[in-house]
Amino acid sequence: MPGCLFCKIIRKELKSNIEYEDETLIAIHDINPQAPVHLLFIPKKHVAQISTMSSEDSVLAGRLLYKVKEIAEKRGWQHYRLVFNNGAEAGQSVFHIHLHLLSGRRMQWPPG
Ligand code: AMP
Ligand code: ZN
Repeated sequence: MPGCLFCKIIRKELKSNIEYEDETLIAIHDINPQAPVHLLFIPKKHVAQISTMSSEDSVLAGRLLYKVKEIAEKRGWQHYRLVFNNGAEAGQSVFHIHLHLLSGRRMQWPPG
């Protein structure tokens, strides 16, 4: 998607701090971290939001989750919060699906 911020990051037209990349997804450090560790797990396929996923996109979501598990295990992060914001009122600002991983501090519940 030409104007999409995360598509530009995936195509390396915009610089980012990449933690992990393979043929299906990229994990980058959030530019405005909300915790000592704040990564974004982004599928390379442009899908705007959870509520517009097709059934074949469900495999992408599973890959994101399993990559979280692998990276967290490798880094020794035992406690973390995973967040998908779906829609502007839920806090979504970039309309290309991404999974937030927040770690390194105590989390509050309920979230704001
Ligand atoms: P959301 O609000 O759930 O759509 O999350 C979008 C996230 O992308 C926010 O946490 C932003 O801080 C982050 N973000 C925006 N621009 C960039 C960028 N250029 N590099 C890394 N993260 C970004
Ligand atoms: Zn995109």
